[in-house]
Amino acid sequence: MLSLEKELKTFKFEAYIKLLKWLKKRYRIITFSEVTDKSSSFLLLRHDVDASMKAALKMARMERRLGIRSTYLVMFSNKLYNIMEKDNLEALKDLAKLGHEIGLHYDLPTYEKRGRDLREILETEIALLERLIGKKVNSIAPHNVSTLTGEDPFKNMAEYINVYSPRFHQNYVSDSCRAWYPRPLRELLAFKYEKVQVLVHPFLWTRDECELKDVLEMLLRDIADENKLYVQRWLELLDDTAKRRLEDGKKNDIHSYSQIKKY
Ligand SMILES: [Zn+2]
Repeated sequence: MLSLEKELKTFKFEAYIKLLKWLKKRYRIITFSEVTDKSSSFLLLRHDVDASMKAALKMARMERRLGIRSTYLVMFSNKLYNIMEKDNLEALKDLAKLGHEIGLHYDLPTYEKRGRDLREILETEIALLERLIGKKVNSIAPHNVSTLTGEDPFKNMAEYINVYSPRFHQNYVSDSCRAWYPRPLRELLAFKYEKVQVLVHPFLWTRDECELKDVLEMLLRDIADENKLYVQRWLELLDDTAKRRLEDGKKNDIHSYSQIKKY
């Protein structure tokens, strides 16, 4: 156990797979929707997808290979990834196809800035998510819960399972910022509790061992590269359109290429 605990500090895929194998032997790993009033013992493996659908899908496949299903909570209010982008949308559908539960990760400060009814925003996002995956969405989780100033208005909704509701959250450990918190990981590994929730952020785990700052750098570089590619394609299209307009302009004397190019 001590060696596993030490290995988990590397945040390597290899260590994560070992953790999954360890947990699978000792706990009944189920998704949030599968918990009933009669469930006396379980482990909920939760993933808040804060930064990358690609990283989430990679983790989902590792879990699937071991016959493990977990709960992935994805965000619409996010500037790091866009669920509606083609590759991300495919990854989302693949996550669902692999048998994992899909829930909504909501960002209250962003909702509040919109100046609309908060519940309406949440329900709109849930309805869209349900359409995208073709399944009912039951579970919800707030983003950055430790930084919320007031009470979460969605904490006790009858219609949805909030992952922070006390019945799921008694024995909880998270890998946030690569520091196992608030319980020491060894308590979980020692099978000390009957009802456990483990939060794992997919983007924090890597194939080779590297520092957190390197993980963030890689992630931001990936995002920047994808955006650069998108902008490049958009500019090419714009240029192409401008050229065609120039030809039309010559015929109709409407625009000049240089005029269009300015915009
Ligand atoms: Zn989050």
